[in-house]
Amino acid sequence: MASVMPIRGEVAGRDLGIVDYHEHLAFDAPEWLLREDRDFRLNDVEKSAEELETWMQAGGRTIIEMSAIDFGRNIHKVKRVSDLVPNVHIIVITGYNKPYYCDRSVWQTDESDLIRACVRDITEGIDGTGIKAGIMKGGTGYNTFTERDKKLLRIAAKVHLETGVPIITHTEAGTMGYEQVEYLTSFGVEPHRICLSHIDRNPDFWEHRRIAETGAYVGYDCPGKIKYGPDELRNTVLRRLIDAGLGTRILLGNDLGRPSYWRSYGGGPGLDFVLTKFIPRLRAEGFSPAAIDDLLIHNPRRFLTSEE
Ligand SMILES: [Zn+2]
Repeated sequence: MASVMPIRGEVAGRDLGIVDYHEHLAFDAPEWLLREDRDFRLNDVEKSAEELETWMQAGGRTIIEMSAIDFGRNIHKVKRVSDLVPNVHIIVITGYNKPYYCDRSVWQTDESDLIRACVRDITEGIDGTGIKAGIMKGGTGYNTFTERDKKLLRIAAKVHLETGVPIITHTEAGTMGYEQVEYLTSFGVEPHRICLSHIDRNPDFWEHRRIAETGAYVGYDCPGKIKYGPDELRNTVLRRLIDAGLGTRILLGNDLGRPSYWRSYGGGPGLDFVLTKFIPRLRAEGFSPAAIDDLLIHNPRRFLTSEE
């Protein structure tokens, strides 16, 4: 079985355990963004490590740190979190989140140079640390598919084709997911190497089904974030997807990219919400143990190790 590359070195697919496919542990958001929204200051290594420890106690094993270059990825801080909680496998990424976060340098730099820089993050390591990225990111804006949106996705497609690392995209409020798959696959990316984040921001069965039917993964990462709608909506669509035979095309995370989501920073629901509250609720609502194991363990392993 193929292996994946977290910070502390290669891990076999069967040893990944319970995976959170989309998380943020520590990053330094750009200054202009912090002026706009202070709730992106998720940068305290000790607090993040403390809560990651509770997630591990709840059964978590592997986490994908999705902070992209334009969002203020800080590999040194994530490495320190990893050193403090060495039994969690942390996979880091390269690539871009969405056009809104990208500064002028992204638009003024030649595409081939940006591709080369991302490939270097994967093959040689990030910012001189030797820590290799294991995921490529791209993303689009709210209901847009502009030249800038396409540039970020094209970079993701080409870096994937060169390196083989899977692609996880950002969708804004769950929009343009199907279009992302169409565009990425037009360059030869296989659907099962693509996962779309934040799809449950738009809990629309018809839309999720048509994405999952391509073979791509729909990423659910809003459990417990009630401002984005109650979990009842999320679970209803989840159940319909599983009943439609698409339960193997779903990845689960919580995307706690704001300190207000973390208990150690004074907020909630906390990093262990999915494992201690959301999964027990799915059980209570009658989701089968096999369906839950797919969500937590088997689907992310398939995705990360490029099983069909
Ligand atoms: Zn995120």
